[in-house]
Amino acid sequence: MAAQPFDDRDGWVWLDGEFIPHRNAKVHVLTHALHYASAVFEGERAYGGVVFKGHEHSLRLQKSAKILGFQVPASAEDIDAAKSELIKKQGFENCYLRAIAWRGSEQMGVAAKRDDVHVAISAWEWGDYFADKMKGVRLMIAPWRRPAPDTSPWNSKAAGLYMICTLSRHAANDAGFDDAIMMDWRGQIAEGTGANIFFVRDGVLHTPFPDCFLNGITRQTVIALAKARGIEVQERAIWPSELATFEEAFLTGSAAEITPIREIAGLAFKPGKMTEQLMTEFSALTRRKNAV
Ligand code: PMP
Repeated sequence: MAAQPFDDRDGWVWLDGEFIPHRNAKVHVLTHALHYASAVFEGERAYGGVVFKGHEHSLRLQKSAKILGFQVPASAEDIDAAKSELIKKQGFENCYLRAIAWRGSEQMGVAAKRDDVHVAISAWEWGDYFADKMKGVRLMIAPWRRPAPDTSPWNSKAAGLYMICTLSRHAANDAGFDDAIMMDWRGQIAEGTGANIFFVRDGVLHTPFPDCFLNGITRQTVIALAKARGIEVQERAIWPSELATFEEAFLTGSAAEITPIREIAGLAFKPGKMTEQLMTEFSALTRRKNAV
């Protein structure tokens, strides 16, 4: 049976301060965001009815909008409250949430200052991001690179930045891989198409320094968890020539959580002790009700 399309579901969407029936949450074809990617969004998960790091996600939504030159028409506290209420109304315990803010229809063209800004939040039940998550995923090297910091608003979770992510993910899937890792404009390892990346060697965690891609909330959580356990974490430039020297590798993201990697472009990795320990600790933290 085909999956239920996202625009044809029961339930509620919070749109500009009100809950409306899910199927009525529509925008016009002449919407600036649709033509010019003037939208920013968040992906979050709730565990046991509580959004993990929900307030940080609300603040990041506002920061992303500010970087694109517009303001989300709701305070972070209002967004937090709307997310909690939405989960309750939907009757979800564990779910994914998608907040989005975008420029509307008052002005069409490159200039957009007269467009009203809208904000919406939806939620749905979503299991593992990858079908084979626990076995470890297979990644290829993406055909697209993360752009240089002066060629994109890289620290905004902006819709437009996902164009090369979708193309890279499709290229990977077409070649029989689960996903791709993207190099940056210099040729250094950057991240996955929707997640950050970590490596393990001799008990030390290594992860690329986020100077042209999103410093994920899950990434920061994993670094804090590791440091609290006395594990050394090196945030630094990592070149692809180093890949063969790492023993374990994993992805981190709100959707991907911690996903072990078993192959990158022909090189094998073994989801081992460090990955397992961090997965266990991450799931304990997310399921703790006051883990905000
Ligand atoms: N990089 C990209 C491109 C992403 O889409 C995501 C998911 N939001 C991440 C990294 C991880 O960010 P977070 O841990 O905040 O979800």
